[in-house]
Amino acid sequence: MTLRFASERRFSTFLPAKGAPETKPIRRYSEVRRDPLTGRSGRVAHFEGFSLVAPDLSQVVEESRAGCPFCPERILKVTPLLPHAIAPGGRIQRGEAILFPNISPYDRQSVVVSLSREHFLSANQFTAAQLADGLLASIEYFRSLPKVGRGTHSVITWNYMPPAGATQVHAHFQAFSTNRPGWLLEEEVRRSRLFWRRHHHPYWQELADTEEASGERFVAGGRHTRWLTPFVSRSVVSEVLTLFPERAYLEELSSDEVAEFVAGLRVALAAFHEEGVRAFNLAFYGAPSQERTPHFWLHARVSPRIYFNPAIQGSDNTSWQHLLDEPFMVRSPEALAERLRDRFRPLFPLPRPK
Ligand SMILES: [Zn+2]
Repeated sequence: MTLRFASERRFSTFLPAKGAPETKPIRRYSEVRRDPLTGRSGRVAHFEGFSLVAPDLSQVVEESRAGCPFCPERILKVTPLLPHAIAPGGRIQRGEAILFPNISPYDRQSVVVSLSREHFLSANQFTAAQLADGLLASIEYFRSLPKVGRGTHSVITWNYMPPAGATQVHAHFQAFSTNRPGWLLEEEVRRSRLFWRRHHHPYWQELADTEEASGERFVAGGRHTRWLTPFVSRSVVSEVLTLFPERAYLEELSSDEVAEFVAGLRVALAAFHEEGVRAFNLAFYGAPSQERTPHFWLHARVSPRIYFNPAIQGSDNTSWQHLLDEPFMVRSPEALAERLRDRFRPLFPLPRPK
């Protein structure tokens, strides 16, 4: 079985500006790709003259400090409490992580996890303990929920900093339990079931093995995780995909597995920070509860968010993504994988244990 990584270059020809020294026609390309699982398209395009410029968010950080509900002097006074059946103390606390209900819920079970005592940490400043405790507190929450119906997903997301949609500067995860996680995850599950029925092994295994063998988008493999960049990324500068082999659910993860994920996440976040990324989205994609076959692998995407032009706060979410649902990448996933590979090597030295 070979996965299909379909792509097509499209050339656009135009004439130079009237005053330009060059008079020959100019030829530029864009590339249309299709995701090997969903068949959905995305583009590598719009990259002429692109350079990543870090926005200065220091004023936003300072101005948000005084009224921040997640800072230590306020959080236990102003945040609501979970029902006793879920958390007898009303909150789940683990290290610096504090988990409490979302006052503006997205579904029946919808919580927020504040990650740190510090009001602001840049992406390269989170400690392994802060990130692991946030994830483990969320996992503890999912495990404590009263028996959920078949087809329920446990989802953790992170909108880090306002350009990525955060409404608070103070770092926090969101966790939800839902049977409607959105079309992308629902479609991944449908296609992944179909792949299992046809090929009797998980699509995700095929993806990890194919990418590792070809190497173009493969970043690293550890004991519990495999890291690559998706052929069709949703971030304009491409993103990181972490696969958890033979794990379908967040609730299955051991603290060792979480620790390995966090170690890789810190490497990726440091690399993004270094090049000027100051905001990102993260999401975990888990199987619906009580799936009958082991067709699905839990995975996570870490997706940088940038301003195309920080001077005018020019968002990276354009009509292409927002209204046509067509992601485009100004940096290819292959270029991002190349950049990350050396940074991951000290963490997961090759060869990968079989
Ligand atoms: Zn704060």
